[in-house]
Formats: sequence, C-alpha cells, structure tokens
Amino acid sequence: MRLGRVAMLGIGLVNGSLALALRERDAVGEIVACARRQRTRERALARGLCDRAVADPAEAVREAELVVLGVPPAAMGPVAAAMRPGLTADAVVTDVGSVKAQIVHDVVPHLPQPALFVPGHPVAGTEHSGPDAAFSTLFEGRRVILTPIEDTDPDAVRKVRRLWELVGAQVDLMTPEHHDRVLAITSHLPHLIAYTIVGTVADLERQTQSEVFKYAAGGFTDFTRIAASDPVMWRDVFLSNREAVLEMLGRFTEDLVRLQRAIRWGDGDTLFELFSRTRRIRRAVIRAGQAYDRLPVPPDRAADNGNGEEDEPTTRADG
Ligand code: NAP
Repeated sequence: MRLGRVAMLGIGLVNGSLALALRERDAVGEIVACARRQRTRERALARGLCDRAVADPAEAVREAELVVLGVPPAAMGPVAAAMRPGLTADAVVTDVGSVKAQIVHDVVPHLPQPALFVPGHPVAGTEHSGPDAAFSTLFEGRRVILTPIEDTDPDAVRKVRRLWELVGAQVDLMTPEHHDRVLAITSHLPHLIAYTIVGTVADLERQTQSEVFKYAAGGFTDFTRIAASDPVMWRDVFLSNREAVLEMLGRFTEDLVRLQRAIRWGDGDTLFELFSRTRRIRRAVIRAGQAYDRLPVPPDRAADNGNGEEDEPTTRADG
C-alpha cells in the first residue's frame, strides 16, 4: 500500500512514531502535521516526522486521503470540528485515542461522512510524550484495536487495517464499548494503582520517602515509570472511560479487602493460592507476546526530551 497525502493532527509519541514507520517503508507521499505550539512543529520537522507542519487543522487535512487524529482524548472533538472545513469528501479519518466510546461520540457529529471514520487504538506506548519521544518500531509486534461502528464503510476499515499491518502491528476488531471495558482492566486500572502508590509515597514524611527512593528496586521503580505517564492524556482517559473504570475499581477494591483480611487473620493459603494463580497469568501474558523488556532511548533524543527534563530509558507500555 502506498498512500498519497496523510494528515497527522497532533504529532507526538504515537502519531510521530506512525509517521516515522510509514516513511521508513516509503509508504506515504507527503505527511502534513498539525500542532498548536511552534516548538512541537519545529521538533516534528527537525526529526523528519513530516514534510510540512501547520497550526490550522483545516489547512492540515486539505487534500489528504487519510487523516489520523493523535491529540489527547478530550481534544479529539474540538480538533475534528476545526478540521472540517478542509476535509475532502472521500478522506478516511481514524484516531489513536486510548478510549473509544467517548471519542466516537465527540468526533462523529463533526464529520461530513461518518461512515469513513474508523476509530482505532494502538495498544503500544511509553511514558514519554511529544515528537522527540517518537520511534519507528513502536508498533512492531503490538496490537491495534479498531472499533468500527454500525455504518462504518468496510473499505475504510480495510485501509486502516492495512496501514497498521504495514508498520508491524496485529489488528483486532471490537465495539467501542467492549474496547473500553477491556482496557479499563488491562491498562486504565494499572495506571490508577500506580498513580495512587506513587502519590502515597509523595505524601510520606521526608525521612521515609528518601528511604523509599534508596530501596526503590523492590517493585516501586516500575510503578514510578507508569506514574510518569502524561497527566493530560490520563486525566482524559479516566474522565472519558468513567463507568468501565469505576466498575473494575469496585471489583479490585473487593479483592484488596479480601487480601487485607487474609493478612490480618494469617490466612497463608489464600495468599499462596492467589500468588500461584497470578504467576500463571504472567506466563500466559508472555506466551501472548505482550511482555516487553526495556528499550534504549532513541539516540537522537537521548539528551533532551523536549520538556527540559533529564531523560530516562524508554520502556514499552500500553496506553
Ligand atoms: P503526545 O506525545 O503528548 O502528543 C500529543 C499531540 O497533540 C502533540 O502534537 C500536541 O502538540 C497536540 N495537542 C496536545 N493537546 C492538544 C489540544 N488540546 N488540542 C490540539 N492539539 C493538542 O501524545 P501521545 O502520547 O502521542 O498521545 C496521543 C493520543 O494517542 C492520545 O489520544 C492517547 O490517548 C493515545 N495513545 C497514547 C499512548 C501512549 O502511551 N502515550 C498509547 C496509545 C494511544 P501541541 O501541544 O503543540 O498542540
């Protein structure tokens, strides 16, 4: 498949990585990126993520055959509304947002041809953001979930499916609501737990806190990585997927109380039985190809992550 002009609305980690992967395969004629800040546009151009970078969504999508919305979930609707005047009638529109039902609800009213909208979510990411975080192998071996709605054109779905397969991903189809339930437990709840644990440590008295940092290798480090994920995106995820997250959180809380009771009453059998079951789940996750080791920081962003902060190793996650 070779695409003509592709518009990337938002050019950060996800859209930037997709752009790099497409360009590496010479699968696209021209990429036009859109971002609000000049700094984002400059970095996207400097890293070769796009041929042109503009601030106006309508200008970005002009004559594009494919539009990829890659902004935070709550910005999808406003950006779709802003791009509308420039959209060609037969352009296929997709998105990469981490929640689906709310984004479908927010974006569809702004599209002249809702049948050409193929909502999507690459289950691949890192805790880093912005154009400097992009790397071309992000989607290799990872899953992408497409959530077409009732009237979605099958040819549009095929086009978006081929796009993701081209960059090395495996594509699954499900409804937006099912996506949101599955991701609530596999991604959203783990992030919430990480934010909570790291938040608890932040509130500890200084002496204890410095000891936590000193001995962090015992599991806490992994939580700090997840809890370093983009605050804007994750705020939007929890507010957009409120019901599914609250349902999973309810179940989790009950299970936590069960463990609390087992510890209080010295019920080792309950603990041992659960820990044995969870060990088997870890093996199943590895067999499904969804456990990844640490990745190196892409060489051209090792010094500066664009936020003026010290950079860290990149670790594949979901999001
Ligand atoms: P990112 O690196 O922070 O990039 C976001 C892009 O959107 C930037 O170009 C940013 O540029 C622009 N933007 C931010 N706020 C905006 C607003 N209010 N209106 C218009 N443009 C805005 O984000 P990302 O990690 O690529 O995430 C993009 C989407 O992918 C999100 O919907 C997220 O849920 C989804 N996703 C993320 C991951 C992950 O691990 N990070 C994984 C899978 C899917 P300016 O600020 O200059 O406008």
